[in-house]
Amino acid sequence: MARKKIIAGNWKMNMTPSEAVELVNTLKSLVVTEEADVVFCVPAIDIIPVVEAAKGSNIQVGAENMYFEEKGAYTGEISPNMLTDAGVKYVVLGHSERREYFAETNETVNKKMLKAFEHGLTPIMCCGETLEQREQGVTMDFIRQQVKVGFQNVTADQAKTAVIAYEPIWAIGTGKTATTEQAQEVCKAIRECIAEVYDEATAEAIRIQYGGSVNAATAPELFAQPDIDGGLVGGASLKPDFGKIVNWK
Ligand code: PEP
Repeated sequence: MARKKIIAGNWKMNMTPSEAVELVNTLKSLVVTEEADVVFCVPAIDIIPVVEAAKGSNIQVGAENMYFEEKGAYTGEISPNMLTDAGVKYVVLGHSERREYFAETNETVNKKMLKAFEHGLTPIMCCGETLEQREQGVTMDFIRQQVKVGFQNVTADQAKTAVIAYEPIWAIGTGKTATTEQAQEVCKAIRECIAEVYDEATAEAIRIQYGGSVNAATAPELFAQPDIDGGLVGGASLKPDFGKIVNWK
């Protein structure tokens, strides 16, 4: 069965609640498509107004992070229940910015993955190498480790519903998109890793996105690759260009 594409915007730490509503109102009619799931991953404070503003559209809402405990003395964190109660369906986990600035590890990402599934949230688990790792030729070793630890104790049925975002760190926010060949090569290798950990059926079902300076010009070729099931889009998700990315065909 063909995998449905998934195109998600990652707003990062941008957009106040009122700016968020304005942006959703601008993009709503531009992101209509039957070809892909369209997800806006937004800052926690924007979730409720964005869910409200997106009503009646095909926009689904995601969070950019989540904690792995149910509730309690974790000042500043946000729980899975808070997200689901607010109407969130997806959650980005282990983005490289969270790994770099907020000390997230493969192990904490794994705890969050398990918690997300427990609550019926679909994780978008990010992985990707630094430029130094690419130059040293250890890209796949590094990513395989991120994937294997990230999916520890995740069942095959859960993994089938997950999304993995391959995001080479050197391509995020730099304007430097990986070549189509580089992106396809790694996404294919990630799928092979999932087949090893689980089985062919799980590898065929899981959706793997490419992320890293995707724009309306690069999206068509990237999304035409056999192992690239859409994109995780940062900068361009804040602009009307996102409508063109979503309607890449
Ligand atoms: C991202 O935030 O995950 C991302 C890929 O950003 P950008 O598209 O701006 O490189």
